[in-house]
Amino acid sequence: MKGDPKDLGFSTRAIHAGQAPDPTTGAVAVPIYQTSTYVHEALGKHKGFEYARVENPTRTALEENIAALEGGRSGHAFATGMAAIQTLMTLLKSGQHTVCSRNVYGGTFRFFTQVLSRYGLEFSWVDSTDPGEVRDAIRPETRMIYVETPTNPMMEITDIAAMAEIARENDCLLVVDNTFLTPYWQRPLEHGADVVIHSATKYLNGHSDAMGGLLVTDSEEHGDWFDYVAKSAGGILAPFESFLIMRGIKTLGVRMEAHESNADRIVELLGQHPKVSNILYPGLPGHVNHDVQKRQSGGHGGMLTVDLGTFEAAKRLLDRVQVFSLAESLGGVESLISHPATMTHASVPERERAELGIDDGLVRLSVGIEDADDLVADLEQALA
Ligand SMILES: *Cc1c(COP(=O)(O)O)cnc(C)c1O
Repeated sequence: MKGDPKDLGFSTRAIHAGQAPDPTTGAVAVPIYQTSTYVHEALGKHKGFEYARVENPTRTALEENIAALEGGRSGHAFATGMAAIQTLMTLLKSGQHTVCSRNVYGGTFRFFTQVLSRYGLEFSWVDSTDPGEVRDAIRPETRMIYVETPTNPMMEITDIAAMAEIARENDCLLVVDNTFLTPYWQRPLEHGADVVIHSATKYLNGHSDAMGGLLVTDSEEHGDWFDYVAKSAGGILAPFESFLIMRGIKTLGVRMEAHESNADRIVELLGQHPKVSNILYPGLPGHVNHDVQKRQSGGHGGMLTVDLGTFEAAKRLLDRVQVFSLAESLGGVESLISHPATMTHASVPERERAELGIDDGLVRLSVGIEDADDLVADLEQALA
């Protein structure tokens, strides 16, 4: 493709942004530059590449691609989602304070409370679906608001534009973890966020065969800092993983549509099922924050949580499914089913789990892109 892909549609950008044919051979797919160093032609003369911790063309291609999809100035790729979050948090100094969604990814909660707290960073955990709670938690030393929307497994929706307003008024950064919806459905920078983070391990790669993390920002200053920390601390994404994630992103649009339409079909079935007492799914008009979700996102994704009332009922379903696989993680082409209380959220103390609403009867589905009829039939037989 020739020209600047900026003005083109999402899937055109997903396939072409950052993906210029290889200058040496014309290869259509960006090659995996599996090298640690680059030859200098003469002292002081090189082609812009010196050492692969600092620059690698495969990684750069992915970084340009995600920046174009989120509508940011720069993208930055790390070994995992957590490595991206670790780099992000170096924006803060000892004594500074962050207001967080109380329902963030468990690894994020652990990193903030068990690791960063040792370095003098402070955190408040609030229900960010209520902007008033976020506003009340702001202190003079607050420098960041950190939210995830929707959350896992409660599918709570936070109003990104409302968070951006609170951040601006208080001279804070707004960071949004956009892993669940991806830029295909939701672009937080357009609603005033300063930094977007992704676990590329999930929908962006989409095939459950690689790990990666991404940061996207609009700010030159923050982008330069992320590059500087990547070079200094070294948590970068390897060339093979960069290649796999880029390859995944090319089909992100068709995959996200398929995840969502399959999830809609499943919700239709479960909504009428006598054994299901509640469904948490942002696509349902009855979801408490359905209006906010519709305003800020083009779709609602392929994640949903159902309440079967008791641990025994949840266990029966988990033991009987055949197409769904019992596993943690999400966002791959294959459908996964999990039990938050004993799997992803087992490390959250029981009392806090109860406060968050993560009961023993909850089952979380990451709906894949298999044939919808097979997924519906599988859940029907498992619930029978
Ligand atoms: C998985 C996940 C992470 C962490 O990403 P890794 O790639 O597993 O390190 C962060 N946020 C969310 C929402 C996730 O689902």
